[in-house]
Amino acid sequence: MQQIPANLHLWNRCHECGSQPIVGQRFECQTCPAGPDRDLCSGCYARFLGGLVKHPKLRRGSTLFDNGKHHFREWQGVADPEQLASWLSVPETTAREPQVPNAFLLRPELQSGDDSFLGTYAFAIAHERAPHGFLCTALHVLDELARNSGVDCSVDNPNYTGRELPAIVSKVVVYDAFAPDWILAEAGSARRMIVVPNARTGDPEPFCQRDTALFALAPGGKLQLGKLTAGVPSLGQPLWLVASPGPKGHERRTIPAVVVASAPEVLVFRFTAREAPPRNTSGAPLIDSSGQVVGINVGCGGFSDYYFGHAVHAASIHRLIASSVISAGDQN
Ligand SMILES: [Zn+2]
Ligand SMILES: [Zn+2]
Repeated sequence: MQQIPANLHLWNRCHECGSQPIVGQRFECQTCPAGPDRDLCSGCYARFLGGLVKHPKLRRGSTLFDNGKHHFREWQGVADPEQLASWLSVPETTAREPQVPNAFLLRPELQSGDDSFLGTYAFAIAHERAPHGFLCTALHVLDELARNSGVDCSVDNPNYTGRELPAIVSKVVVYDAFAPDWILAEAGSARRMIVVPNARTGDPEPFCQRDTALFALAPGGKLQLGKLTAGVPSLGQPLWLVASPGPKGHERRTIPAVVVASAPEVLVFRFTAREAPPRNTSGAPLIDSSGQVVGINVGCGGFSDYYFGHAVHAASIHRLIASSVISAGDQN
């Protein structure tokens, strides 16, 4: 096995030169929302300071961040070579790929007043505390909406109560991500974001067990509700990231992986194929061989030809639901 350097950022990619992992210092934009276009390597950051690199990366339909006054924070590489070696040493077991129905993987459109934001992914689960089910995604999927509204739901804000975002999210419409024209395939909606006082973005990767957003689904949708497993997946267990691979390959719905770190505070998996998984899969579900939900995908990264992801596991989701404040209005 090749030498594993200690100064790499496994979960981060430079949006300018595409380096992944970023080795050495990493410069993370504090102005841009959480997402793949937030980090620069030291070389590209120096060129950014010299006016040679464009940042922010302008996104289609985005007019939010066009003043160029972006503030960066510098991070040193933190990868632990021994830990990474242990993640590489977990063997794969073969298991039959679970079947994923239509309208299980969802694209959420978050509405706040007159604004609407398209999130990456979400999914729905049945649960006794929500008569029509919960819509689940990663909290950082809402980061652009939160920043646009001046809400800081990160670990940097000790005053965040969990009520600020539910107060401004007026509706979420979800679409079937597997439909050929998914934007035409409305599958359901949620009227309310649930107050989860302990949910936060910004925990250091991969220890992100609070990065969860929940919504009470409205009746009458065509959604396929998943079932949440009871606990934390075990080391070496196979699991699958449910993701839409893009317009060319709609027949493939799952990407196989194996659990390489499993503890109350962390769930890390290694993709079986030595090729990069699709980008921007935050909020997508992870399922086991029976098709039950074991986690919410939060981040992916890679080293050499090995690719990893980390997730909020089912036990954490259960805990967050138990601590959530569900009002009478969420019940109907
Ligand atoms: Zn770079
Ligand atoms: Zn920025």
